Amino acid sequence: MKNRLRILTAALAACLFAGCCLAACNVHTHELTDVQEKTATCIEAGNRAYWYCEGCGKYFSDEAASQEIAEADTVTAPLGHVTQRAALADDEIASNGGREVWTCSRCGETFAEQSGKTPVDVLAKMFTDREFYAEGTENGPDVFTSTQIGGKFAPIAPQKFVMRFFMGFTYDVSELVSGQNVEVHMNIHRTDANPNWWQLVFRYHPTAGQETVVIEASRIGAGGRTAYTLDRAFSDLIKEQNGLYLLLQRDGDRLACYAEDADGKPQLIFSVTGFSTGAIYQMRIAHFENYYADETHGGVIRDMTIALDTVDLSAERTEYGEPIGS
Ligand SMILES: [Zn+2]
Ligand SMILES: [Zn+2]
Repeated sequence: MKNRLRILTAALAACLFAGCCLAACNVHTHELTDVQEKTATCIEAGNRAYWYCEGCGKYFSDEAASQEIAEADTVTAPLGHVTQRAALADDEIASNGGREVWTCSRCGETFAEQSGKTPVDVLAKMFTDREFYAEGTENGPDVFTSTQIGGKFAPIAPQKFVMRFFMGFTYDVSELVSGQNVEVHMNIHRTDANPNWWQLVFRYHPTAGQETVVIEASRIGAGGRTAYTLDRAFSDLIKEQNGLYLLLQRDGDRLACYAEDADGKPQLIFSVTGFSTGAIYQMRIAHFENYYADETHGGVIRDMTIALDTVDLSAERTEYGEPIGS
């Protein structure tokens, strides 16, 4: 009897204890995380201030957890751009080639259209119709100053650009009878890449009846040079013009070189890839004295214009296929 009572008491105690525990576990106390308000931007959603309990997964609009809200109610929608048409200066152009842009008064982004769908950059022509005469040896001081194009430090940062320039001579090449070469060099320096510069050599062999035009490309530090011989039509054109109009097109890590034919159509000479994107270019202009050049016979690079990424040469690329001379 004594034993039974003891067991009953123990059982009752256990029962009471269990019941007590169950009741206590049923009373959930929210452990609230305070989430700060985040203002939506033009393109990114934000959220209102709310409190969240990880224990029960509920959202509340107040710290006292008296107003439960749905998770979706915490989100505030993106605001969208507020665009206004912005005028472009004469020497500016949109990176999509457009002549007008729309700017958002909230985020400051610039777009091709009022709806703010296509982001564009406003690009400025950096130099145009300037003449640069290199009158020293490649290592001379004039070369160094020519890195400052037109007396101005002019790095070219865009990932896409087309630069058109005349590369030739300061004299009448049709009068040359020498078997020597005449050359003009352009060094393209990249400020944050290795190898950090690249050279374009324009060479004319003026021997009468055997004229040849060679464009030689090399990436300094990356091994040998590659020479591309242009066809005879270009020799005739050089005698007419004392040089050629060339185009350099940068498209990200690709750099392509075109020569304009007698009809002004760009023909692909070569393209090279592997240029680090992000590299910034600046130009050095030089020529070698060793190759017939003297005070009278100099090299010239002039009419330099940069169209940035507004010229699509892909059609020419397809049309001419393989590079000239390959
Ligand atoms: Zn809770
Ligand atoms: Zn905006």
